[in-house]
Amino acid sequence: MLYQRSSQLFAEAEKVIPGGVNSPVRAFKSVGGTPIFVKQAKGAYLYDEDGNRLIDYINSWGPMILGHAFEPVVQAVTERAKLGTSFGMPTELETQIAALAVSMVPNIDKIRFVNSGTEACMSAVRLARGFTKRDKIIKFAGCYHGHSDSFLIQAGSGAMTFGTPNSPGVTAGTAKDTLLAKYNDLENLRSLIEANPNEIAAIIVEPVAGNMGCVPPTKGFLEGVRQLCLENGILLIFDEVMTGFRLAKGGAQELLNINADIVCFGKVIGGGLPVGAFAARAEIMNYLAPLGPVYQAGTLSGNPLAMAAGLAMLESLNNDAAIFQRLEEKTAYLEAGIHRVLQANNVVYTINRIGSMISVHFDASPVIDLQTAAKGDNETFKKFFHGLLKEGIYIAPSAYETWFITDALSYDDLDFTINAIDKVSKTL
Ligand SMILES: *Cc1c(COP(=O)(O)O)cnc(C)c1O
Repeated sequence: MLYQRSSQLFAEAEKVIPGGVNSPVRAFKSVGGTPIFVKQAKGAYLYDEDGNRLIDYINSWGPMILGHAFEPVVQAVTERAKLGTSFGMPTELETQIAALAVSMVPNIDKIRFVNSGTEACMSAVRLARGFTKRDKIIKFAGCYHGHSDSFLIQAGSGAMTFGTPNSPGVTAGTAKDTLLAKYNDLENLRSLIEANPNEIAAIIVEPVAGNMGCVPPTKGFLEGVRQLCLENGILLIFDEVMTGFRLAKGGAQELLNINADIVCFGKVIGGGLPVGAFAARAEIMNYLAPLGPVYQAGTLSGNPLAMAAGLAMLESLNNDAAIFQRLEEKTAYLEAGIHRVLQANNVVYTINRIGSMISVHFDASPVIDLQTAAKGDNETFKKFFHGLLKEGIYIAPSAYETWFITDALSYDDLDFTINAIDKVSKTL
């Protein structure tokens, strides 16, 4: 495969866009080489500017769960566009998608739409702080909740009780209100809460972590988090930006049978347009302006094109009784195939999977948190990534990303992928 035109386009982009990309994860910094420029996509396939076809295992980082250029979404957006693209006034569409989302997701009465997952998480935290009248939040190392200041925090040197900024531009003042806990470690969380009595407004967590590769919660972890929240007057925020409308109709809350107090959405909920949302029971949501004191707003929030795309996506998922089972079966088939060929080629690895989220880590020990995820061999991953690319398979250009399986993948695509992994494994 040749990437001549992509390289040229990247060089042009670098002149006017920092790093040539509008989101850093698109750059090939951790694998080397230059990003591939997409021309178009359909179903499970990407077509790049050099005329290569790639089987897509990222799917816009999740949203294209039913495939690229999914007909009902394309139709909904093109029809809506003719009627005007933004009004800054309410539309019936917003109520329709809100009602559908509320009917699909357990344990929520009201939902507000925003423009990204970042905005959803940021707003959920403000709401939790306003509701509890407390300032501090707890997040888990390795969980990603968007690029808002309070989430760009890493463990402080030696000090367990407060974090430090992990990006210049985040102030120490902001960092002191975000405490960092270890994923899948209840004792660590318990001691953090005990050290900050009556100060924690919320614990925000990816119920299935997807931003350090796929890291499912260990048995009892989320149940323990839920219990600690109840005992300490803390609101539990599930960041379901990745898991929402992917692991089940009702997301991780449904699949794992645990109720959160506030739930954040993004990715799938917008059907490929910029949409995020946060939701909770009425008592909490009524704290938002204009009903309540917590301010939150957006000129383009509930945008008709975005809502039309999201509604078409949610309707398609809601009306397809077998969709999540089908995704489970396809991903399980892929997982079994990868196990088979990696084992046959004596590769050292661990596979984590839950539903249609899967990741391959190049280390033998179980991956249960950021520390164990970081043990993966990045040199092996680089070879794996570029090897698969040569075979026409696109996975995320970073070892710490989940693969997002789309229903558009056929079993032939999966077999092709497993064969390619077999071939590439022999070179690792
Ligand atoms: C992608 C993601 C976000 C951020 O969403 P954006 O739309 O990129 O702002 C937040 N939380 C999780 C779990 C995500 O995977």
